[in-house]
Order: sequence, then C-alpha cells, then structure tokens
Amino acid sequence: MDNKKVPAKKDFSGDDKLAKKPRRPMKRKVCEFCEKGIAEIDYKDVSKLRKYITEKGKIISARTSGCCAHHQRQLTVAIKRARMVALLPFKGE
Ligand SMILES: [Zn+2]
Repeated sequence: MDNKKVPAKKDFSGDDKLAKKPRRPMKRKVCEFCEKGIAEIDYKDVSKLRKYITEKGKIISARTSGCCAHHQRQLTVAIKRARMVALLPFKGE
C-alpha cells in the first residue's frame, strides 16, 4: 500500500504514538543489593562496582541498573570513593 512511498527500513522514532506498536509490559528489575541483603556497599569490592560503570567509567543510572534509590545512592558514593583510591578509573580504561 504505502510501502512504495515510504521505505520500510526507515525508523520513525518520533511517530511511536501513531504507529501503535504492540508493547509488552516492562519487566521490573529488582535491586541486586536488596535481593542479596547487602546493607552497605563496600568501595573496595571492585568486581561488583565494575558492573555499574560503563566502559568510559561513567556510573550507570538507576533506571538502567535497576537499583533502588537507597542502594543507587550508596553505589554512587562507593564508586566515587573507589575512584579516589584509584581502584576505578575517572574516565576511559
Ligand atoms: Zn536496593
């Protein structure tokens, strides 16, 4: 029908509301630290903290990481402390 006018591959990210894609409900992420019952996040636990920073060394947002507000705040402090004692990079790798 309209396929001749509009190339199929083109991405209309702005027209999402009009397109009415079938959206599956987002699965709620569970905070890893709550699940394991970790009350305090240790800044020396580098292997755990590394999961929450990007390749460039940026802290991953709570929306992406799935952490609750309480643990995301602790995580941020822990990563910043780890940076100060050179366990984690400030930028890059
Ligand atoms: Zn939590």
